[in-house]
Amino acid sequence: MKYAIIADIHGNLEAFHAVLEDAKAQNPTHYVCLGDVVGYNANPKECLKIVRDMNIPCVKGNHDEYCSSDDQLEGFNPNAAEAVHWTRRQLTAEEREWLRDLKYTKMVANFTIVHATLDAPQRWGYVFDKLAAAASFPYQTTPVCFFGHTHVPVAFMRDTVVRGGTFSKFKVDPAKKYFVNVGAVGQPRDNNPKAAYVIYDLDAATIELRRVDYDIAAAQAKIREAGLPERLAERLEFGR
Ligand code: ZN
Repeated sequence: MKYAIIADIHGNLEAFHAVLEDAKAQNPTHYVCLGDVVGYNANPKECLKIVRDMNIPCVKGNHDEYCSSDDQLEGFNPNAAEAVHWTRRQLTAEEREWLRDLKYTKMVANFTIVHATLDAPQRWGYVFDKLAAAASFPYQTTPVCFFGHTHVPVAFMRDTVVRGGTFSKFKVDPAKKYFVNVGAVGQPRDNNPKAAYVIYDLDAATIELRRVDYDIAAAQAKIREAGLPERLAERLEFGR
């Protein structure tokens, strides 16, 4: 079995297409999605349709939650709030219900998927460092768990202590635990504008981060045409 693990698509259809194209060449047997299918970019409906048509197991991201509710957006960054309001208007009641019904965590094959953290998945904490990763590990019952939310690919490993760092490809030691951020398809924030996702080969026990070029200019043009905040278009070419 070989899984393509994708996260934080955020309505970026150009990036999503490019990632699916690259993944296809790796011959995955399955796909999973770590949430935030919508929010920020201009094609939430189209990206959601692909996830649903492909029957990709998916957990709920914070933007999936905000865009599928009518809650007030207090303490929000104004650009993010504007994108949430815009996305709410694009989605049908049925699409919003599908997003609302997503679970916070899921077990797939022999691994776990979650959008933000395992200790309090519905609180949307950000795991950037070893300390935050250490809080999640006690709730992890499988050797490997994949997460998203920060849009920064990083792998944490718990042995006797928790270690973490960037990665390109590594072998999974079943005696250890791994909490792996697969990066973002639709809005990378690690100063690399290429779309990110992971291939998890269960037979070879390898986890590989892949970076994919896509038509950033086309995604930016759609953001501007939709009247979404300019900052959301700009940031795509810098990857932050
Ligand atoms: Zn996100």
